[in-house]
Amino acid sequence: MAQEKKQVEQITSMESDFAQWYTDVVKKAELVDYSGVKGCFVLRPYAYALWENIQAVLDKKFKELGHENVYMPVLIPESLLNKEKDHVEGFAPEVAWVTHGGSEPLQERLCVRPTSETLFCDHYAHVVHSWRDLPKLYNQWCSVLRWEKTTRPFLRHREFLWQEGHTIHATPEEAQAETLRMLEVYADLAENYLAMPVIRGRKTDKEKFAGAEATYTIECMMHDRKALQSGTSHYFGDGFARAFEILFTDKDNQLKNPFQTSWGLSTRIIGGIIMTHGDDSGLVLPPRIAPVQIVVIPVAAHKAGVSAAADALLSRLKAAGFRVKSDTSDQSPGWKFAEYEMKGVPLRLEIGPRDLEAGRCMMARRDNGEKISVALDHVETEAARLLEEIHRGLFEKARQNLSQNTFTATTLEEVKAIAEGPGGFIKTMWCGDEACEEKFKEAAGVTSRCMPFQQENLGETCPCCGKPAKHMVVWGVAY
Ligand SMILES: [Zn+2]
Repeated sequence: MAQEKKQVEQITSMESDFAQWYTDVVKKAELVDYSGVKGCFVLRPYAYALWENIQAVLDKKFKELGHENVYMPVLIPESLLNKEKDHVEGFAPEVAWVTHGGSEPLQERLCVRPTSETLFCDHYAHVVHSWRDLPKLYNQWCSVLRWEKTTRPFLRHREFLWQEGHTIHATPEEAQAETLRMLEVYADLAENYLAMPVIRGRKTDKEKFAGAEATYTIECMMHDRKALQSGTSHYFGDGFARAFEILFTDKDNQLKNPFQTSWGLSTRIIGGIIMTHGDDSGLVLPPRIAPVQIVVIPVAAHKAGVSAAADALLSRLKAAGFRVKSDTSDQSPGWKFAEYEMKGVPLRLEIGPRDLEAGRCMMARRDNGEKISVALDHVETEAARLLEEIHRGLFEKARQNLSQNTFTATTLEEVKAIAEGPGGFIKTMWCGDEACEEKFKEAAGVTSRCMPFQQENLGETCPCCGKPAKHMVVWGVAY
């Protein structure tokens, strides 16, 4: 028990220091290790397993929708990166350059991909010639490199894992529909697998992706009421196609530029899961993507029949399709309880001599600590029911956090008071001018998160300049 206590004490409480709590959890749950290069993190097996489960959900959906996986090179010639003006301006400050091959200086600098639009465009120019070649629905799983100044595990890496979808279409309507369709895939992942409620919306021009005509986003609220941009989908129009001279002969025999999209979701979402569901005992993982859904812990394993019963339960649960493990190490049950709480395993199944005698076992929920006595005959059905309940419970708790901490304001003073007081998301009207958007930042330290698809009419004028309002915007402090 002494060990259990010590382990729990080592985590900073969320209320006292949320940032330190986050760092503690990431380390104690064995998610990452630091490497020799700042901002490049080792994803340890538990974090990688989490990513693989997220990857599996998305990859299946992409393929169901007709996307194919491809792989582009890691290096981009400088001349290629420079082809689209807005794009290069947006990314130039954070690209890393390869200047030498061995000891020989290169004729042309090569950048390590910060994102792969330019590579896809170059390829599309080679393979798209006719309307028959369209659409191309491609996705790439890879890592990208951005030379960030401040870095934090999952939230801001220099190198991070992600997927980037890149599609090319004959018409703007088709490309626009694709942009929104993929945003919905991200929203579905967040809400139905990660139990993270989202706000779907469009980014302002100031916040949109470099080179995009429109950027759409899903925004989530973290436990500390800050925002996490969790997935984005971009509509490029034919801007990239013009810059890269991608042309196709349409059905009417005219030579035209096609229309493009890109969309990405990264390991950043793992930071989102941690900060949405975690608590003072550590991680709390949503059951649908948890690497281990159920941990079986024999109590007084030396007593007759206990080990065998635990083994039998493990086999049954495995056979029923659960991701399950048992811990038969010589650590005390108390140590094990704390360990798997730290790792956020949704359900703990305890079985000891008295349970066995009664033909029962105990299931403990990670999300709310509730303990349920379950007949051994019903273990599979009860486990399934409880995992579903945990998913719904986590979603509901996060939804309440979002709705209770979303406020409405009609003046800049109100925005400031909310930002300096409780924090959270602030809804206001906005005239559409970037100058006013800047003022929100100067006055209250908030940035526009998005213009939600679900617009509300909170008034007729912009709180900054008093001119007629065009959009409702959600503002917040973002990670
Ligand atoms: Zn204004």
